[in-house]
Amino acid sequence: MSGSTYNPFEIAQEQFDNVAEILELDSGTRELLRQPMKEIHFTIPVKMDDGSTKVFKAFRIKHNDARGPAKGGIRFHPHETADTVRALSMWMTWKCAVVDIPLGGGKGGVVCDPHNLSKSEQERLCRGYIRQLANQLGPNLDVPAPDVMTNGQHMLWMLDEYEAITGGRYPGMITGKPVGMGGSLGRTEATGFGVIYVLKSYLQEIGLPVASTTASIQGFGNVAEYAARMYTELGGKVIAVSCWNQKDARSYTFKKQGGCDIDELAAIKDSFGSIDKERALALGYELLPGEDWLKQDVDILIPAALENQITPEAVKNLSSQVKIICEAANGPTTPDSDPLIQERGIMLLPDFLCNAGGVTCSYFEQVQCNMNYFWGKDEVLEKLEYAMTKAFHAVYKLAVEKDLYMRNAAYIIAINRVSDAVKLRGWA
Ligand code: NAD
Repeated sequence: MSGSTYNPFEIAQEQFDNVAEILELDSGTRELLRQPMKEIHFTIPVKMDDGSTKVFKAFRIKHNDARGPAKGGIRFHPHETADTVRALSMWMTWKCAVVDIPLGGGKGGVVCDPHNLSKSEQERLCRGYIRQLANQLGPNLDVPAPDVMTNGQHMLWMLDEYEAITGGRYPGMITGKPVGMGGSLGRTEATGFGVIYVLKSYLQEIGLPVASTTASIQGFGNVAEYAARMYTELGGKVIAVSCWNQKDARSYTFKKQGGCDIDELAAIKDSFGSIDKERALALGYELLPGEDWLKQDVDILIPAALENQITPEAVKNLSSQVKIICEAANGPTTPDSDPLIQERGIMLLPDFLCNAGGVTCSYFEQVQCNMNYFWGKDEVLEKLEYAMTKAFHAVYKLAVEKDLYMRNAAYIIAINRVSDAVKLRGWA
Protein backbone atom coordinates (compact mmCIF):
# COMPACT_ATOMS: atom_id res chain seq x y z
CA MET A 1 0.00 0.00 0.00
CA SER A 2 2.91 2.32 0.59
CA GLY A 3 4.03 1.85 -2.99
CA SER A 4 7.38 0.35 -1.93
CA THR A 5 8.80 -2.89 -3.29
CA TYR A 6 8.20 -4.72 -0.02
CA ASN A 7 5.27 -7.11 -0.16
CA PRO A 8 3.54 -7.09 3.25
CA PHE A 9 2.13 -10.60 2.86
CA GLU A 10 5.57 -12.02 2.05
CA ILE A 11 6.88 -10.17 5.11
CA ALA A 12 4.10 -11.61 7.32
CA GLN A 13 4.82 -15.11 5.99
CA GLU A 14 8.57 -14.72 6.48
CA GLN A 15 8.04 -13.60 10.08
CA PHE A 16 5.72 -16.56 10.66
CA ASP A 17 8.10 -19.08 9.02
CA ASN A 18 10.98 -17.96 11.25
CA VAL A 19 8.96 -18.50 14.40
CA ALA A 20 7.38 -21.75 13.13
CA GLU A 21 10.96 -23.01 12.77
CA ILE A 22 11.87 -21.99 16.34
CA LEU A 23 8.67 -23.62 17.63
CA GLU A 24 9.23 -26.72 15.46
CA LEU A 25 5.58 -26.59 14.34
CA ASP A 26 4.36 -29.59 12.36
CA SER A 27 3.92 -29.12 8.60
CA GLY A 28 0.08 -29.19 8.67
CA THR A 29 -0.16 -26.41 11.26
CA ARG A 30 2.46 -24.38 9.36
CA GLU A 31 0.57 -24.74 6.09
CA LEU A 32 -2.69 -23.72 7.75
CA LEU A 33 -1.31 -20.70 9.61
CA ARG A 34 0.92 -19.23 6.89
CA GLN A 35 -2.07 -18.26 4.71
CA PRO A 36 -5.66 -17.01 5.12
CA MET A 37 -8.45 -19.57 5.56
CA LYS A 38 -10.88 -17.59 3.42
CA GLU A 39 -10.66 -14.72 0.92
CA ILE A 40 -13.48 -12.81 -0.69
CA HIS A 41 -12.62 -10.48 -3.58
CA PHE A 42 -15.54 -8.54 -4.98
CA THR A 43 -16.64 -5.34 -6.69
CA ILE A 44 -18.99 -2.65 -5.41
CA PRO A 45 -20.91 -0.61 -7.97
CA VAL A 46 -21.71 2.82 -6.57
CA LYS A 47 -24.06 5.41 -8.07
CA MET A 48 -22.10 8.65 -7.96
CA ASP A 49 -23.66 12.05 -7.26
CA ASP A 50 -23.35 13.00 -10.95
CA GLY A 51 -25.48 10.01 -12.00
CA SER A 52 -22.56 7.90 -13.28
CA THR A 53 -21.64 4.48 -11.82
CA LYS A 54 -18.19 3.77 -10.42
CA VAL A 55 -17.03 0.24 -9.60
CA PHE A 56 -14.73 -0.23 -6.60
CA LYS A 57 -12.59 -3.31 -5.90
CA ALA A 58 -12.94 -4.69 -2.38
CA PHE A 59 -11.70 -7.48 -0.14
CA ARG A 60 -12.58 -9.31 3.05
CA ILE A 61 -10.04 -11.85 4.21
CA LYS A 62 -10.20 -14.20 7.20
CA HIS A 63 -6.83 -15.49 8.28
CA ASN A 64 -7.83 -17.74 11.18
CA ASP A 65 -10.76 -18.07 13.58
CA ALA A 66 -9.67 -20.98 15.76
CA ARG A 67 -9.69 -18.80 18.91
CA GLY A 68 -12.96 -16.97 18.14
CA PRO A 69 -14.80 -14.90 15.50
CA ALA A 70 -12.53 -13.13 13.04
CA LYS A 71 -11.85 -9.50 13.90
CA GLY A 72 -10.29 -6.74 11.85
CA GLY A 73 -10.71 -3.31 10.32
CA ILE A 74 -11.82 -2.17 6.89
CA ARG A 75 -9.40 0.21 5.16
CA PHE A 76 -10.24 2.70 2.42
CA HIS A 77 -7.09 3.41 0.42
CA PRO A 78 -6.33 4.06 -3.27
CA HIS A 79 -3.36 1.65 -3.18
CA GLU A 80 -5.02 -1.15 -1.20
CA THR A 81 -3.97 -4.62 -2.41
CA ALA A 82 -5.05 -8.18 -1.64
CA ASP A 83 -1.58 -8.88 -0.24
CA THR A 84 -1.81 -5.96 2.19
CA VAL A 85 -5.18 -7.22 3.41
CA ARG A 86 -3.84 -10.80 3.66
CA ALA A 87 -0.89 -9.64 5.75
CA LEU A 88 -3.05 -7.49 7.99
CA SER A 89 -5.53 -10.33 8.55
CA MET A 90 -2.64 -12.53 9.64
CA TRP A 91 -1.27 -9.86 11.98
CA MET A 92 -4.78 -9.57 13.50
CA THR A 93 -4.69 -13.26 14.43
CA TRP A 94 -1.39 -12.80 16.25
CA LYS A 95 -2.52 -9.51 17.78
CA CYS A 96 -5.67 -11.00 19.35
CA ALA A 97 -3.65 -13.97 20.57
CA VAL A 98 -0.82 -11.92 22.11
CA VAL A 99 -3.30 -9.92 24.23
CA ASP A 100 -5.20 -13.16 24.86
CA ILE A 101 -8.67 -12.09 23.71
CA PRO A 102 -11.00 -14.77 22.31
CA LEU A 103 -10.99 -13.55 18.70
CA GLY A 104 -9.36 -14.54 15.42
CA GLY A 105 -7.89 -12.47 12.60
CA GLY A 106 -9.57 -10.85 9.60
CA LYS A 107 -9.23 -7.67 7.53
CA GLY A 108 -11.03 -5.80 4.79
CA GLY A 109 -10.27 -3.10 2.29
CA VAL A 110 -11.73 -1.06 -0.53
CA VAL A 111 -9.58 0.42 -3.28
CA CYS A 112 -10.80 4.02 -3.13
CA ASP A 113 -9.77 7.48 -2.03
CA PRO A 114 -12.44 8.88 0.29
CA HIS A 115 -10.90 12.35 -0.19
CA ASN A 116 -12.57 12.25 -3.62
CA LEU A 117 -15.95 10.91 -2.51
CA SER A 118 -18.85 12.96 -1.17
CA LYS A 119 -20.48 11.90 2.10
CA SER A 120 -23.41 10.28 0.31
CA GLU A 121 -21.07 8.43 -2.09
CA GLN A 122 -19.16 7.11 0.94
CA GLU A 123 -22.45 5.99 2.50
CA ARG A 124 -23.44 4.10 -0.66
CA LEU A 125 -19.97 2.51 -0.79
CA CYS A 126 -20.26 1.34 2.83
CA ARG A 127 -23.75 -0.07 2.25
CA GLY A 128 -22.56 -1.76 -0.97
CA TYR A 129 -19.67 -3.39 0.92
CA ILE A 130 -22.11 -4.95 3.40
CA ARG A 131 -24.66 -5.98 0.74
CA GLN A 132 -21.99 -8.17 -0.87
CA LEU A 133 -20.84 -9.70 2.40
CA ALA A 134 -23.83 -9.81 4.76
CA ASN A 135 -23.89 -13.62 5.08
CA GLN A 136 -20.15 -13.71 5.84
CA LEU A 137 -20.27 -11.22 8.70
CA GLY A 138 -21.88 -11.28 12.15
CA PRO A 139 -21.12 -11.09 15.88
CA ASN A 140 -20.14 -14.76 15.96
CA LEU A 141 -18.59 -14.93 12.51
CA ASP A 142 -16.48 -11.97 11.46
CA VAL A 143 -16.57 -8.53 13.06
CA PRO A 144 -15.21 -5.48 11.15
CA ALA A 145 -13.96 -2.21 12.63
CA PRO A 146 -12.60 1.14 11.42
CA ASP A 147 -9.05 1.37 10.09
CA VAL A 148 -7.13 3.69 7.77
CA MET A 149 -9.53 6.33 6.41
CA THR A 150 -12.67 4.72 7.85
CA ASN A 151 -14.46 5.94 10.97
CA GLY A 152 -17.45 5.49 13.28
CA GLN A 153 -19.88 6.97 10.77
CA HIS A 154 -18.79 4.40 8.15
CA MET A 155 -19.27 1.63 10.73
CA LEU A 156 -22.78 2.82 11.56
CA TRP A 157 -23.84 2.91 7.90
CA MET A 158 -22.48 -0.64 7.60
CA LEU A 159 -24.34 -1.79 10.72
CA ASP A 160 -27.56 -0.17 9.51
CA GLU A 161 -27.29 -1.97 6.16
CA TYR A 162 -26.55 -5.28 7.89
CA GLU A 163 -29.55 -4.86 10.19
CA ALA A 164 -31.79 -3.89 7.26
CA ILE A 165 -30.78 -7.13 5.51
CA THR A 166 -31.01 -9.42 8.57
CA GLY A 167 -34.06 -7.74 10.13
CA GLY A 168 -32.72 -7.54 13.68
CA ARG A 169 -30.48 -5.50 15.94
CA TYR A 170 -26.94 -6.87 16.08
CA PRO A 171 -24.74 -4.13 17.55
CA GLY A 172 -21.94 -6.67 18.14
CA MET A 173 -21.66 -7.19 14.37
CA ILE A 174 -19.24 -4.29 14.00
CA THR A 175 -17.14 -2.20 16.38
CA GLY A 176 -15.83 1.35 16.45
CA LYS A 177 -19.41 2.65 16.39
CA PRO A 178 -20.19 6.13 17.71
CA VAL A 179 -20.74 6.30 21.47
CA GLY A 180 -24.50 6.18 22.18
CA MET A 181 -25.00 3.96 19.13
CA GLY A 182 -23.36 0.84 20.56
CA GLY A 183 -19.84 2.26 20.67
CA SER A 184 -17.59 2.00 23.70
CA LEU A 185 -16.22 4.97 25.54
CA GLY A 186 -12.45 4.98 25.17
CA ARG A 187 -12.43 3.31 21.72
CA THR A 188 -11.21 6.49 19.99
CA GLU A 189 -8.26 6.71 22.35
CA ALA A 190 -7.67 2.97 22.76
CA THR A 191 -5.04 2.19 20.11
CA GLY A 192 -2.91 5.26 20.77
CA PHE A 193 -3.21 4.99 24.55
CA GLY A 194 -2.44 1.24 24.33
CA VAL A 195 0.80 2.02 22.47
CA ILE A 196 1.88 4.28 25.32
CA TYR A 197 0.80 1.81 28.06
CA VAL A 198 3.29 -0.64 26.47
CA LEU A 199 5.98 2.03 26.12
CA LYS A 200 5.44 3.17 29.72
CA SER A 201 5.76 -0.42 31.01
CA TYR A 202 9.04 -0.84 29.16
CA LEU A 203 10.41 2.49 30.41
CA GLN A 204 9.50 1.41 33.96
CA GLU A 205 11.41 -1.85 33.43
CA ILE A 206 14.58 0.05 32.47
CA GLY A 207 14.08 2.75 35.06
CA LEU A 208 13.76 5.63 32.59
CA PRO A 209 11.09 8.20 33.56
CA VAL A 210 8.78 9.05 30.62
CA ALA A 211 9.25 12.72 31.50
CA SER A 212 12.95 12.53 30.68
CA THR A 213 12.35 11.22 27.15
CA THR A 214 11.69 12.71 23.70
CA ALA A 215 9.90 11.20 20.70
CA SER A 216 9.33 11.71 16.99
CA ILE A 217 6.10 10.42 15.45
CA GLN A 218 5.05 9.52 11.91
CA GLY A 219 1.34 10.17 11.39
CA PHE A 220 -1.20 12.36 13.10
CA GLY A 221 -4.31 10.26 12.56
CA ASN A 222 -6.31 8.45 15.20
CA VAL A 223 -3.47 6.29 16.54
CA ALA A 224 -0.72 8.90 16.43
CA GLU A 225 -2.77 11.73 17.95
CA TYR A 226 -3.85 9.73 20.99
CA ALA A 227 -0.41 8.18 21.43
CA ALA A 228 1.02 11.72 21.39
CA ARG A 229 -1.64 12.88 23.87
CA MET A 230 -0.97 10.10 26.39
CA TYR A 231 2.80 10.37 25.95
CA THR A 232 2.80 14.13 26.60
CA GLU A 233 0.32 13.71 29.46
CA LEU A 234 2.91 11.41 31.11
CA GLY A 235 5.52 14.14 30.64
CA GLY A 236 7.25 13.06 27.42
CA LYS A 237 8.15 15.62 24.77
CA VAL A 238 7.14 15.16 21.10
CA ILE A 239 9.84 16.83 19.01
CA ALA A 240 8.43 16.19 15.53
CA VAL A 241 5.30 14.91 13.79
CA SER A 242 5.13 13.84 10.16
CA CYS A 243 1.93 13.55 8.13
CA TRP A 244 0.51 13.48 4.63
CA ASN A 245 -0.55 16.62 2.76
CA GLN A 246 -3.26 15.73 0.25
CA LYS A 247 -3.08 18.98 -1.73
CA ASP A 248 0.70 18.81 -2.24
CA ALA A 249 0.61 14.98 -2.61
CA ARG A 250 3.59 14.62 -0.27
CA SER A 251 4.33 14.40 3.43
CA TYR A 252 5.87 17.01 5.75
CA THR A 253 7.49 16.84 9.17
CA PHE A 254 6.33 19.51 11.61
CA LYS A 255 8.86 20.49 14.25
CA LYS A 256 8.75 23.08 16.98
CA GLN A 257 11.46 24.41 19.23
CA GLY A 258 10.66 23.17 22.74
CA GLY A 259 8.33 20.43 21.47
CA CYS A 260 5.02 20.11 19.63
CA ASP A 261 1.81 21.21 21.30
CA ILE A 262 -0.56 18.33 20.60
CA ASP A 263 -3.77 20.31 21.29
CA GLU A 264 -2.56 23.02 18.94
CA LEU A 265 -1.80 20.53 16.13
CA ALA A 266 -5.06 18.61 16.71
CA ALA A 267 -6.98 21.86 16.27
CA ILE A 268 -5.51 22.39 12.78
CA LYS A 269 -5.73 18.84 11.41
CA ASP A 270 -8.46 17.51 9.14
CA SER A 271 -10.47 14.31 9.61
CA PHE A 272 -7.80 12.34 7.67
CA GLY A 273 -5.01 13.32 10.07
CA SER A 274 -3.38 15.95 7.83
CA ILE A 275 -2.04 19.04 9.55
CA ASP A 276 -2.76 22.38 7.84
CA LYS A 277 0.66 23.52 6.64
CA GLU A 278 -0.04 27.27 6.49
CA ARG A 279 -1.62 27.40 9.95
CA ALA A 280 1.25 25.35 11.40
CA LEU A 281 3.77 27.78 9.90
CA ALA A 282 1.81 30.67 11.44
CA LEU A 283 2.04 28.89 14.82
CA GLY A 284 5.82 28.80 14.56
CA TYR A 285 6.32 25.23 13.33
CA GLU A 286 9.27 24.45 11.13
CA LEU A 287 8.36 22.48 7.96
CA LEU A 288 10.77 19.68 6.98
CA PRO A 289 10.58 16.90 4.38
CA GLY A 290 8.19 14.09 5.38
CA GLU A 291 10.90 11.48 6.00
CA ASP A 292 12.81 13.78 8.40
CA TRP A 293 10.79 12.48 11.35
CA LEU A 294 13.26 9.58 11.24
CA LYS A 295 16.32 11.81 11.46
CA GLN A 296 15.57 13.52 14.77
CA ASP A 297 17.77 13.35 17.86
CA VAL A 298 15.16 11.67 20.05
CA ASP A 299 14.98 8.68 22.41
CA ILE A 300 11.88 7.14 20.89
CA LEU A 301 10.55 6.74 17.34
CA ILE A 302 6.84 6.04 16.96
CA PRO A 303 5.88 5.07 13.41
CA ALA A 304 2.08 5.47 13.46
CA ALA A 305 1.11 5.88 9.80
CA LEU A 306 2.03 3.28 7.18
CA GLU A 307 3.90 0.02 6.63
CA ASN A 308 7.52 -0.31 5.39
CA GLN A 309 8.74 3.04 6.69
CA ILE A 310 11.77 1.83 8.66
CA THR A 311 14.11 0.35 6.05
CA PRO A 312 17.79 -0.68 6.39
CA GLU A 313 18.73 2.68 4.84
CA ALA A 314 16.65 4.50 7.46
CA VAL A 315 18.15 2.46 10.32
CA LYS A 316 21.66 3.36 9.15
CA ASN A 317 20.79 7.05 9.36
CA LEU A 318 19.05 7.02 12.76
CA SER A 319 20.43 9.33 15.39
CA SER A 320 22.66 7.58 17.93
CA GLN A 321 20.26 8.88 20.59
CA VAL A 322 17.42 6.57 19.46
CA LYS A 323 16.86 3.86 22.10
CA ILE A 324 13.38 2.59 21.33
CA ILE A 325 11.22 2.01 18.26
CA CYS A 326 7.65 1.74 19.38
CA GLU A 327 5.64 0.39 16.44
CA ALA A 328 2.16 1.90 16.48
CA ALA A 329 1.36 1.28 12.79
CA ASN A 330 0.99 -2.18 11.32
CA GLY A 331 4.18 -3.48 9.69
CA PRO A 332 6.15 -0.20 9.76
CA THR A 333 9.53 -1.99 9.82
CA THR A 334 10.86 -4.10 6.95
CA PRO A 335 12.18 -7.55 8.01
CA ASP A 336 15.68 -6.79 6.67
CA SER A 337 15.82 -3.90 9.16
CA ASP A 338 15.19 -6.10 12.20
CA PRO A 339 18.77 -7.51 12.43
CA LEU A 340 20.19 -3.98 12.07
CA ILE A 341 17.93 -2.65 14.83
CA GLN A 342 19.00 -5.53 17.05
CA GLU A 343 22.68 -4.94 16.23
CA ARG A 344 22.38 -1.29 17.21
CA GLY A 345 20.91 -2.32 20.56
CA ILE A 346 17.65 -0.46 19.92
CA MET A 347 14.65 -1.91 21.75
CA LEU A 348 11.85 -2.70 19.31
CA LEU A 349 8.35 -2.85 20.77
CA PRO A 350 6.51 -4.81 18.06
CA ASP A 351 3.40 -3.62 16.22
CA PHE A 352 0.96 -6.39 17.01
CA LEU A 353 1.66 -5.99 20.73
CA CYS A 354 1.85 -2.16 20.81
CA ASN A 355 -1.25 -1.44 18.73
CA ALA A 356 -3.44 -4.20 20.18
CA GLY A 357 -5.28 -1.62 22.32
CA GLY A 358 -7.75 -0.95 19.50
CA VAL A 359 -8.84 -4.52 19.11
CA THR A 360 -8.86 -5.03 22.87
CA CYS A 361 -11.27 -2.13 23.25
CA SER A 362 -13.28 -3.44 20.28
CA TYR A 363 -13.58 -6.68 22.20
CA PHE A 364 -14.79 -4.68 25.21
CA GLU A 365 -17.28 -2.95 22.88
CA GLN A 366 -18.64 -6.33 21.76
CA VAL A 367 -18.89 -7.55 25.36
CA GLN A 368 -20.80 -4.39 26.34
CA CYS A 369 -23.10 -4.73 23.28
CA ASN A 370 -23.82 -8.34 24.17
CA MET A 371 -24.70 -7.31 27.76
CA ASN A 372 -26.50 -4.17 26.53
CA TYR A 373 -24.78 -2.43 29.44
CA PHE A 374 -22.04 0.12 28.93
CA TRP A 375 -19.09 0.90 31.18
CA GLY A 376 -17.77 4.36 32.06
CA LYS A 377 -14.64 5.59 30.31
CA ASP A 378 -12.39 5.14 33.35
CA GLU A 379 -13.50 1.52 33.67
CA VAL A 380 -12.76 0.85 29.99
CA LEU A 381 -9.32 2.49 30.12
CA GLU A 382 -8.44 0.75 33.37
CA LYS A 383 -9.29 -2.66 31.83
CA LEU A 384 -7.35 -1.67 28.70
CA GLU A 385 -4.23 -0.69 30.62
CA TYR A 386 -4.41 -3.93 32.60
CA ALA A 387 -4.66 -6.04 29.41
CA MET A 388 -1.86 -4.18 27.59
CA THR A 389 0.48 -4.17 30.58
CA LYS A 390 -0.11 -7.87 31.21
CA ALA A 391 0.58 -8.70 27.55
CA PHE A 392 3.76 -6.58 27.56
CA HIS A 393 5.11 -8.28 30.70
CA ALA A 394 4.50 -11.79 29.31
CA VAL A 395 6.39 -10.92 26.11
CA TYR A 396 9.17 -9.04 27.89
CA LYS A 397 9.69 -11.86 30.41
CA LEU A 398 10.09 -14.40 27.61
CA ALA A 399 12.41 -12.06 25.67
CA VAL A 400 14.64 -11.54 28.72
CA GLU A 401 14.63 -15.18 29.83
CA LYS A 402 15.45 -16.56 26.37
CA ASP A 403 17.45 -13.58 25.14
CA LEU A 404 15.03 -13.01 22.25
CA TYR A 405 14.26 -10.04 20.02
CA MET A 406 10.91 -8.66 21.27
CA ARG A 407 9.18 -9.29 17.92
CA ASN A 408 10.15 -12.97 18.08
CA ALA A 409 9.07 -13.27 21.71
CA ALA A 410 5.66 -11.79 20.87
CA TYR A 411 5.31 -14.11 17.88
CA ILE A 412 6.25 -17.15 19.95
CA ILE A 413 3.53 -16.41 22.50
CA ALA A 414 0.88 -15.61 19.85
CA ILE A 415 1.65 -18.46 17.45
CA ASN A 416 1.80 -20.96 20.31
CA ARG A 417 -1.68 -19.91 21.46
CA VAL A 418 -3.16 -20.15 17.95
CA SER A 419 -1.48 -23.45 17.13
CA ASP A 420 -2.76 -24.86 20.43
CA ALA A 421 -6.31 -23.77 19.48
CA VAL A 422 -5.95 -25.31 16.01
CA LYS A 423 -4.77 -28.58 17.54
CA LEU A 424 -7.44 -28.62 20.27
CA ARG A 425 -10.10 -28.20 17.56
CA GLY A 426 -8.56 -31.10 15.65
CA TRP A 427 -7.75 -28.99 12.58
CA ALA A 428 -4.13 -30.08 12.47
P1 NAD B 1 -5.48 7.45 10.05
O1 NAD B 1 -6.02 7.32 8.66
O2 NAD B 1 -6.33 8.05 11.10
O3 NAD B 1 -4.10 8.29 10.03
C1 NAD B 1 -3.06 7.98 9.18
C2 NAD B 1 -2.01 9.08 9.34
O4 NAD B 1 -0.88 8.74 8.54
C3 NAD B 1 -2.46 10.46 8.90
O5 NAD B 1 -2.03 11.41 9.83
C4 NAD B 1 -1.75 10.65 7.57
O6 NAD B 1 -1.51 12.02 7.28
C5 NAD B 1 -0.46 9.91 7.85
N1 NAD B 1 0.26 9.54 6.63
C6 NAD B 1 -0.21 8.94 5.52
N2 NAD B 1 0.77 8.82 4.62
C7 NAD B 1 1.89 9.36 5.18
C8 NAD B 1 3.22 9.54 4.74
N3 NAD B 1 3.63 9.12 3.55
N4 NAD B 1 4.10 10.15 5.59
C9 NAD B 1 3.70 10.57 6.81
N5 NAD B 1 2.45 10.42 7.26
C10 NAD B 1 1.55 9.82 6.47
O7 NAD B 1 -4.99 5.99 10.45
P2 NAD B 1 -4.84 5.36 11.91
O8 NAD B 1 -6.14 4.74 12.28
O9 NAD B 1 -4.22 6.34 12.82
O10 NAD B 1 -3.84 4.16 11.61
C11 NAD B 1 -2.43 4.33 11.53
C12 NAD B 1 -1.74 2.99 11.55
O11 NAD B 1 -2.11 2.26 12.71
C13 NAD B 1 -2.07 2.06 10.37
O12 NAD B 1 -0.94 1.26 10.10
C14 NAD B 1 -3.18 1.18 10.92
O13 NAD B 1 -3.30 -0.04 10.22
C15 NAD B 1 -2.68 1.01 12.34
N6 NAD B 1 -3.69 0.64 13.33
C16 NAD B 1 -4.79 1.41 13.53
C17 NAD B 1 -5.70 1.05 14.52
C18 NAD B 1 -6.88 1.91 14.86
O14 NAD B 1 -7.55 1.59 15.86
N7 NAD B 1 -7.14 2.97 14.16
C19 NAD B 1 -5.48 -0.12 15.28
C20 NAD B 1 -4.34 -0.86 15.05
C21 NAD B 1 -3.44 -0.47 14.08
